[in-house]
Amino acid sequence: MMKKTRVLVAGAGPVGAVAAYRLAQMGIDVILIEPNTHCPDDMRASTMHPPTLDMLEELGVLDDLVAVGLKAPVYQYRNRKTDNVISLDMTEIGDVVRHPFRLQCEQFKLARLLTGLLATHPHAQVLFNHRLLSYEQDAKGVTCKVEGPLAIETIACDYLIGADGASSTVRKLTGIEFEGFTYPERFLTLSTDYPVEDHHPGLANVSYMSDEAEWCVLLRVPGLWRVLVPSHEQESDASLLSDAKKTSVFKGLVPDGESVKTHHRTLYRVHQRVAASFRKGRVLLAGDAAHLNNPLGGFGMNSGIHDAWNLTGKLRDILLDGGDADALLDRYDRQRRTISREFVQAQTIRNKAAMEADPGAGKSAQERHMEKLVADATLRHEYMMQQAMVRSLEREGEIL
Ligand SMILES: Cc1cc2nc3c(=O)[nH]c(=O)nc-3n(C[C@H](O)[C@H](O)[C@H](O)COP(=O)(O)OP(=O)(O)OC[C@H]3O[C@@H](n4cnc5c(N)ncnc54)[C@H](O)[C@@H]3O)c2cc1C
Repeated sequence: MMKKTRVLVAGAGPVGAVAAYRLAQMGIDVILIEPNTHCPDDMRASTMHPPTLDMLEELGVLDDLVAVGLKAPVYQYRNRKTDNVISLDMTEIGDVVRHPFRLQCEQFKLARLLTGLLATHPHAQVLFNHRLLSYEQDAKGVTCKVEGPLAIETIACDYLIGADGASSTVRKLTGIEFEGFTYPERFLTLSTDYPVEDHHPGLANVSYMSDEAEWCVLLRVPGLWRVLVPSHEQESDASLLSDAKKTSVFKGLVPDGESVKTHHRTLYRVHQRVAASFRKGRVLLAGDAAHLNNPLGGFGMNSGIHDAWNLTGKLRDILLDGGDADALLDRYDRQRRTISREFVQAQTIRNKAAMEADPGAGKSAQERHMEKLVADATLRHEYMMQQAMVRSLEREGEIL
């Protein structure tokens, strides 16, 4: 039997889950499909920025996430050689943002919370073990073929949202180009319950450590430190995931790297790519399906949630208020694609370059820049507004 819904969302990552939940909350019927049996323990995103926290508050889930996360009002830039520490305190932008902190909370906690709420929502269905295979569209709607556990099913909808991640089937089916590049090196993340903070006085929950030999990012989530380091191109997977590598990474951070036990060791290939369009007729792309960037700054999931927010607002105008679909969805494409290019791509490339800067005589370019900020309250405020993604959303609103 053919299922029917107003919107089908492919992918129950954080972006698809936010899109589906917001639509259901608006009273728009939605089906969310996900090939896995549940939202997997994904150790990628852990930072949620202030505007994202506003959105999650509007969805009524912020308190639940704060309860399972850590507030990080301060983030730091540290020089591993000189131990110079520059701290930025987001309470200084509390005059403008409602939540002047980053919330350190793993992305799977958000996806699981929302899919749990959707499972009993009168306007939603969540279908795990279901993968989008193909779609056809005409002027009236989209007909999708979905592989379920027992059969290939057909789901008809008014609109299809592809929130199915970096290797998006939806994007590939649209034929839309995914323009950009892939870094030659990969990124290694390791997590440990070792008390790294004992060896770095005043260590903030989010700390960027620059170094000419090996920069790293230290991110804390409840019960764990996550360490992110770049790999050298020629290193094999086996060598990067080995105990010897683990020990060498932690040697630079704690006195006895050997004794550090890890919970996860994961290698990621990292890309800078933006889809040439976020829309093909009634098929819309959001999140990693539409854009990819390096994790320095924590913008990937956040900007994907901002896509979901923008897009679901437009779908509300179309489906509930009879708005002009082409005009609204073209504007979604223009707004979010421009932000991906102008802000997310540009800033993450700058953030990575700054981490790599040669400390040479002692100070990296990043440190010199940061010292200027520390000395100037106006510059500092503006920098934090940029990194908190507030400016990107202001800019989005200006794009007609
Ligand atoms: C090391 C690392 C650290 C990061 N840290 C941060 C951070 O701190 N902050 C931040 O904002 N971002 C961060 N990111 C980026 C962030 O993880 C991604 O941007 C985010 O996961 C994108 O969410 P998404 O829902 O678009 O895609 P995904 O999380 O990839 O979810 C896509 C979902 O679609 C499903 N799917 C796939 N194919 C199909 C199909 N055919 N049909 C239906 N469903 C399908 C998948 O199973 C998956 O569940 C980091 C990335 C990395 C690699």
